[in-house]
Amino acid sequence: MNKPSAADGIPFLDLQAQYQSIREEIDSAISQVISASAFIGGPFLNAFEEDFRRYCGTAEAVGVSNGTDAVRLALLACGVGPGDEVITVPNTFIATTEAVTMIGAKIKFVDVESTTLNMDPRQLERAVTNRTKAILPVHLYGRPADMDPILAVARKRDLKVVSDAAQAHGAMYRSRGIGTMGDAATFSFYPGKNLGAYGDAGAVVTNDPEIARRVRLLRDHGRTRKYEHELEGFNCRMDGLQGAILSVKLRHLERWTDLRRRHAARYSSLLQGIASLRTPLEASDSKAVYHIYAIETERRDEIQHFLRSQHIETGIHYPIPLHLQPAYSYLRLGRGSFPVAESLAERMLSLPIFPEMTDSQITRVANAVRAAIQTPA
Ligand SMILES: *Cc1c(COP(=O)(O)O)cnc(C)c1O
Repeated sequence: MNKPSAADGIPFLDLQAQYQSIREEIDSAISQVISASAFIGGPFLNAFEEDFRRYCGTAEAVGVSNGTDAVRLALLACGVGPGDEVITVPNTFIATTEAVTMIGAKIKFVDVESTTLNMDPRQLERAVTNRTKAILPVHLYGRPADMDPILAVARKRDLKVVSDAAQAHGAMYRSRGIGTMGDAATFSFYPGKNLGAYGDAGAVVTNDPEIARRVRLLRDHGRTRKYEHELEGFNCRMDGLQGAILSVKLRHLERWTDLRRRHAARYSSLLQGIASLRTPLEASDSKAVYHIYAIETERRDEIQHFLRSQHIETGIHYPIPLHLQPAYSYLRLGRGSFPVAESLAERMLSLPIFPEMTDSQITRVANAVRAAIQTPA
């Protein structure tokens, strides 16, 4: 076999391939928005909110500017404010915790489980204080957090639950949609997410009409009608263009998710039986949507280096847990505070996964991982 060249390299993600597959629908949606000059909010956003609400199985969906603002507005709408503590996890993208700090609340971390890689419900009770107001689990990589025990603690201690589903569009937990549990769930439509806009966008979904009402107010200057403001809000609106594009893409999402799941299953079967490598756990009662397909191995850096030499792009989500980030040095949480999250940061490697990948690309990546790991250290 010839050494692969950059030309037949495998990217981590290929947005161009997806656009080409739905180009006519997208171009037509974009030109409709421009013809109608419906640039901010408006009919295309309303239509998307209705589509997304149905897709999530919730009473309400509110489109906002991005996934970070979705978390921020959902927490505010749940009554979280200055001085309140919000419990979340250290192995997430910093947007999750930025949303907490931006509203004057305090971040309280708990460690994650080595199985789901998500919030460990057994750590929760100990972390709750009389200032705790909300729990903010993250469905990392598109795999549901273990919500039932989290919801049980919330009920017992009278806490709100907002879940960060930025990576988990369409995921199911014990036959329930990921957006239907707790008080609200938030989504990001950043272009690389499973449902991605052509720019920034996000949404809050909820079954609580009052939370939805407050998010609607907060995203648009607290406005009830023109120049009447019930409260001071923000400019966190979604563009009409993004709404129209997302409505088109939502029609394809189940098919894309099925492909992601198929690719994940293929990776897991090709990578079976390697002692020093763990493939993602598939819980029988949940449906993960594989925003990321990450393997766990002590030889992560070597494998990544070898794949790069084969022109295969990989990622690390995330290399530094939040409690060890310079931005959070003020929390004074040293190494050893959250051992599971710390070990994941050193061992996880995200392989390329996107719906348009071919079986032979998956095989090539898997073979390269095998070759790298079977080379003596
Ligand atoms: C992408 C992401 C966000 C932020 O979404 P933006 O739309 O980029 O603001 C928040 N949380 C998690 C877990 C994410 O992956």
